[in-house]
Order: sequence, then structure tokens, then C-alpha cells
Amino acid sequence: MSRGFATLAVHGPVPGRAGQEGTLRPPVYDNAAFAFASAADMQAAFEGRLAAHAYSRVSNPTVQAFEERVAALAGARGALAVASGMAAIANVVLALGESGANVVTTRHVFGNTASLFAQTLAPWGLEVRFADFTAPEAVAAAIDGRTCAVFFETITNPQMEVADARAIASAAHARGVPVVADGTATTPYLFDAKTFGIDVEVISSTKYMSGGATSIGGVILDYGSFDWSRSPRLAESARRFGPHALLFALRREVYRNLGACLAPHAAFLQTLGLETLALRVGASCANARSLANWLEGRPEVLRVNYPGLASSAFHALARAQFPRGTGGILTFDLGGKAEAFAFMDALTLIRRATNVHDNKTLIIHPASTIFCDYGPEERLAMGVSDATLRLSTGIEDGPDLIADLERGLAAVAAVRLGGAA
Ligand SMILES: *Cc1c(COP(=O)(O)O)cnc(C)c1O
Repeated sequence: MSRGFATLAVHGPVPGRAGQEGTLRPPVYDNAAFAFASAADMQAAFEGRLAAHAYSRVSNPTVQAFEERVAALAGARGALAVASGMAAIANVVLALGESGANVVTTRHVFGNTASLFAQTLAPWGLEVRFADFTAPEAVAAAIDGRTCAVFFETITNPQMEVADARAIASAAHARGVPVVADGTATTPYLFDAKTFGIDVEVISSTKYMSGGATSIGGVILDYGSFDWSRSPRLAESARRFGPHALLFALRREVYRNLGACLAPHAAFLQTLGLETLALRVGASCANARSLANWLEGRPEVLRVNYPGLASSAFHALARAQFPRGTGGILTFDLGGKAEAFAFMDALTLIRRATNVHDNKTLIIHPASTIFCDYGPEERLAMGVSDATLRLSTGIEDGPDLIADLERGLAAVAAVRLGGAA
């Protein structure tokens, strides 16, 4: 019988495999290059006939230990760790796409992902097509013979939308197109990507996985479900490496050449983070659920958006896709920017900070920060209103968080009284 998530997270896929001196943690090989016993071994390593580390931009034992543990937790065929979540997305799109190809995605993606597609890659000839991912038939209609990937996030932020992953996957697979999901918000603890037809998952391990914002990192997971000989960019690699074509093409070309490798020390911190992932994600989801419920019951709050609430249009889907919890981000509306700012400034525990999935609860006013480069109409099209605040729930004690939210709401009431006077 296969071991459970928490056991695998703590012991790794090969329990009992100790480091030198019997260390219970993988040692940190914080170095750039590795020596070989002979010239022939060195040649064999470079030609891929001998599995050995040569240079840490390409592979490193500490990073490999992290990759193996993430792959085991996710049930993936293989994993590649990279320098950041953005590096994970860039590596995958650059491995699958080419000039003249298109990516079918949604406007409701992480801001820098949208910018990568529309500003960085478009001038190189990659077309970005936006579709409504809450309507799988719209996704199907956007796919054509030049589509190299379908890309979406498991829970969008700050819209809090959940796409029907199985329906999206079958629309893409019917046209021979791989599905890439950004599972940062869910991690393999909440979302069993393979079961829902996801072929490749990218994750910003900076968030939940790092252990609580300890370091920047990213992971690419190949679930082994897509036949890479159907991908024009990977056809040659598929002839040589079969089902490993994507990860080999990355390791031997795109990842190696881009140079966005994960530092060994960051891999060490993030391996440590994995050990407590289930505990921390569980506590964060429980806090999100209870704060969402509490805020929804308050007359000062106009609207709460959290997929775990019965009032969310995505409630049933979220419960089915993420049975262990519906994420640690929620948004709520207070009437306008003045109220939102007053609320934020009255908080004494919850931190005013960007980032999500820290151990600390964080708050941000998305319209004036993450989306400040967009005009009011564009912001509304992206589902971002001036009245909206976003909370990313940490693992603190619930009553302390509620006491802080009370301070915020008292300040909102004062602003409203002032406005009426
Ligand atoms: C943070 C984030 C990213 C980018 O990750 P970095 O590690 O900051 O590069 C990508 N996607 C989502 C959904 C994120 O939340």
C-alpha cells in the first residue's frame, strides 16, 4: 500500500535513505561543480549515458532530493525545480511553444503570467488567446491546430474562480493539446492534478511549499499523461526520450539555457517546508473558511468571495476538486477605496503585504497595487474593483484574526459616519 501524504512529505520517497554520516536530512551541496574520476566518466555524463552531477545550473543533489520529494507527493512521473514560479511558467511555455503557435489561457491569471504572455513572449511570435475558462466550450472554441498548450490556474486570484479541470482537459485532449495548470493556490495536498487530467503542473513553491515565504522557488511536474510525440516542438525529443521528452528537453536545453536554477540552499529550505505542508495548508484553509463565514455575517461587508462558501458559484466544483480544503485566499468588498484603506490601516496583527500563502495572514488592496498599471475599465474586466480587499490566511489562532478584523470594521464604520456628516 502506498504511504500517505504526510508520511511521504516527512520521509521522502525512499524512507531510510540516509545522507552521509546518517544525516536525517539531505545535506546541502552548496557548490557549483562536481569532479569526475576519469575523462571517460566525464564524457559519459555529458552524453547522458552516466547519471552524474556536473554543474549545479543543470542539476544538483540537494535540488534533486527536493524534486524527488515533490514528484512523490504529487504522484508525478518527474519534477524539475526552478528558481521561481515565473521561471516554471516561462520554461514550460518556451519548451512547448514557438513562433506562430498560440497558448489558450484566460485574463484571470497571475499578473506577471499575463505580462509574460502578452508583453515578453508575444514579440517572439507566440500568440496569446484569452477565453472564459468557466465555460469549457469557449476554451474548446479557442483551440486550433497551432495551439501548443492550454493554461489556467486552479483557483484564480483575486477573482476566486474555479474551472472544471476535467472538462477543460477533455476539450484540450480532443484536439491533441496538453493541459498546463498553475497549482500554486492548491499544491498537491489539495489538488490531485493527475486524476483531473492535468498533464503538466507548474507551482510557485515560494508560496505554501517553501514553508512560509522562506525563499523564492518553482516546480514543474510532468504527470506522464501526454504523448509528447503530438507536440510539434517536442516530437524530436519524444523520439529519443519517449515519455520523458518534456523533462529531458527542459533539462538538456530550455532550463539549462535559461539558467533559472533553484539554489541548493533554497531547495533545502523548501524540502523542510514540504514536511509541514499538510499541517500548514490545512490550518490556512480552515482559517480562510471561518473568516469568510464571519465576514459574510457582518452587515458592513457587501460581499465575500471564497470558493468554500455556499454563496460562491464555484462551491460545488471546488469541494469536488479540492476535497481537503478550498484554499487560503478570500476577497471581500467594503463599499469603496476609502473604506478599504481605513480597514487596512486599522489592523494591528494582519500584515499589509503582497504575497500569499505565508504563515502570516496578509492583506492587500489589489486595485491600487497589483493592478495599478491598468485603468478602471480594464480592472473591472479583470474582476478587480476599488472596493475589494484580498486576505491570504496564515496559520494563526482564529480568534486573534477575528479580533483584528473587528478593528478594521470599526474603522470602516467611522469612515461611513464621517461621510454622512
Ligand atoms: C506567486 C505566483 C506565481 C509566481 O511565482 P514566483 O515564485 O513569485 O515567481 C505564479 N502563479 C501564481 C498563481 C502565483 O501566486
